[in-house]
Amino acid sequence: MRKKVIAGNWKMNKVRSEAVQFLEDTKGQVPSFNEVESVICAPFPYLSELVQKAEGTPVKIAAQNMHFEENGAFTGEVSPVMLKDIGVTYVVLGHSERREYFAETDETVNKKVHAAFQHGLVPIVCVGETLEQRESNQTNQLVEGQVKKALEGLSEEQVKQTIIAYEPIWAIGTGKTATSEQANEVCTHIRNVVKDVVSADAAEAVRIQYGGSVKPANVEELLAQSDIDGALVGGASLEADSFLKLVEAGK
Ligand code: PEP
Repeated sequence: MRKKVIAGNWKMNKVRSEAVQFLEDTKGQVPSFNEVESVICAPFPYLSELVQKAEGTPVKIAAQNMHFEENGAFTGEVSPVMLKDIGVTYVVLGHSERREYFAETDETVNKKVHAAFQHGLVPIVCVGETLEQRESNQTNQLVEGQVKKALEGLSEEQVKQTIIAYEPIWAIGTGKTATSEQANEVCTHIRNVVKDVVSADAAEAVRIQYGGSVKPANVEELLAQSDIDGALVGGASLEADSFLKLVEAGK
């Protein structure tokens, strides 16, 4: 039985006081880590403080991106060493917004996944198709390519620990959720790809989230699907009440 992972992706939202207040507002109400993994993916400036504030609670703190190098002349970048140093435990890699606006590629995502494992960070690897690709029946092929490249060169053990987030781009921030059947169909395909390229054990263990306009009203139906092991949530993770409902559904 795979434990569900609910991750709130705040993107470029909240000022410091709001970020801290969120943890205050959810304190004591998030289910235990044994029941469900609850993750907040916060902007870089707040990570250190949020890690400290979340200590002793079930909430884990994630970065929304990182560089693959440990250090060097990469102005404006943040390294895995720095994230590890401040106690961050998860990192979102290859989000479609990074692929679209910041030239993230399958190759850089793969380098970042390796760097995450090298430094003890759990990668949440995002994959997903555009509306055009879905309408021209390229979804499975496209997602398969993204998954294979992202996992290239990892050990079976590392694949088991990876979290894959299937996020159809047309459903992100649009209010258009994939139906639970559509979402599950692609998640099942991803699991089969992992089985083919890694092993049946890895496919059984790897957790696959769905992301794209998930909210309290639709989360239960999505999480009830056979191959959906959690959710990566943008808009509906910004309010404490809403986030609490999402993690509750993951129990
Ligand atoms: C996301 O940020 O990855 C996302 C899925 O956003 P939203 O839930 O707002 O669609």
